[in-house]
Amino acid sequence: MDFELTEEQRIFQDQVRGFAERHLAEGALERAHAEPHPRDVAKLMAENGLFGIVLPEADGGQGGTLMDAVLAMEQVSLVCPRSGDVIQAGNFGAIRTFAEYASPQQKERFLKPLLAGETLISVAMTEPDAGSAVTDLKSNLKPDSEGWRLSGSKVFVTNSGEADLFLVYCRFGPGVGGIGSVLLEREADGFEIGAPSKYMNGEVWCPLFFENVHIPQEHVLLGEGGFKKQIAGFNVERIGNSTRALALGRYSFNQAREYALNREQFGRPICEFQGIQWKFAEMIAALDAAQLLLYRAATRAESDLPSAQDTSIAKLACNQAGYLCAHESMQVMGGMGYSQDTLVEWCLRKTRGWMIAGGSLEMMKNRIAEGVFERPFSQRPPRPRQRDR
Ligand SMILES: Cc1cc2nc3c(=O)[nH]c(=O)nc-3n(C[C@H](O)[C@H](O)[C@H](O)COP(=O)(O)OP(=O)(O)OC[C@H]3O[C@@H](n4cnc5c(N)ncnc54)[C@H](O)[C@@H]3O)c2cc1C
Repeated sequence: MDFELTEEQRIFQDQVRGFAERHLAEGALERAHAEPHPRDVAKLMAENGLFGIVLPEADGGQGGTLMDAVLAMEQVSLVCPRSGDVIQAGNFGAIRTFAEYASPQQKERFLKPLLAGETLISVAMTEPDAGSAVTDLKSNLKPDSEGWRLSGSKVFVTNSGEADLFLVYCRFGPGVGGIGSVLLEREADGFEIGAPSKYMNGEVWCPLFFENVHIPQEHVLLGEGGFKKQIAGFNVERIGNSTRALALGRYSFNQAREYALNREQFGRPICEFQGIQWKFAEMIAALDAAQLLLYRAATRAESDLPSAQDTSIAKLACNQAGYLCAHESMQVMGGMGYSQDTLVEWCLRKTRGWMIAGGSLEMMKNRIAEGVFERPFSQRPPRPRQRDR
């Protein structure tokens, strides 16, 4: 067992760190508090080979591995936490599921501008009555002479106010087997983007309404029976969520460490108080443990799609470690940690959201328990037994 990165991975890591320090360190605080997705950063990253890291070169990608993408996201987020979201959009999010299953014609039409950072794709999965129970989704397709008609609604979609393209989970028929997905362009007739709401982390989301929206057959990404494949792609999204949570925890830790070395109270640096030291001991143990689980999930991923079990364990550990470290770092930094003059309070708000987004901690634990006992556990109410009916 080797716990070290390869020479090639270390070189790549250094290159990305250098890029981030040159281009993203300045303005990191303002960038975090600015509302729109930073498309200028997206274009810059695309020009510097940081989009489509795992996608084949034939598709316009970089031909790297999931582990490379994780390393890039870590290094960028450690310098500019908000720019981690851009790495997510260009590598781990809906773009990854799209590129995995898209037809050559769909790639031809949509992939190039996505990989250039010119357009943005979001995944529209959650509905008002289908959150954790995502297979209860109701958005549905009815056949018409030229393809399909989409009706329904979605909530909580990241970048919904500004995405150019949506990968919409929807129903071709009943049950889990009836679920697939389609590609929906922002300007489509009958597609309405509702009034914006704001999350605690400052992100804006808008409800999405589909009223008999025409979907040409060429915009079907995965037809009936596509749900399992979609979730296989979505596990990459979860690795991106985990990586950012961990990186923002480490970013906060680094800020707090510097602060504890320099801030003096009672005539000595606060790092000399045991109450402060123990926080750092707990934080570093949580960060390092979660990082090993994250790297395990990424390196064991077959065809760069990680297993559900490895992903769930990594997400649980990274979400908890990230939040713990942002929370404790804020405490170490006192009033300065709570102030918007540093990014630690922002990291706390972001890491809190990732405990819900991309599958809540509770849902990750449900999945992990299935792996432990090697059997499924239905979350549905038990059916009445024959003799009780
Ligand atoms: C920051 C952020 C970004 C997001 N981005 C997107 C996006 O881009 N696209 C998208 O489609 N969605 C997105 N979401 C939505 C997200 O996927 C859902 O919020 C999440 O799946 C939980 O669904 P819910 O909010 O409806 O909560 P519910 O499912 O109603 O759950 C409420 C609570 O009950 C718990 N719970 C539910 N079922 C169980 C169970 N069986 N066992 C134990 N506990 C359970 C949950 O863990 C939670 O604590 C985002 C959410 C956030 C916060």
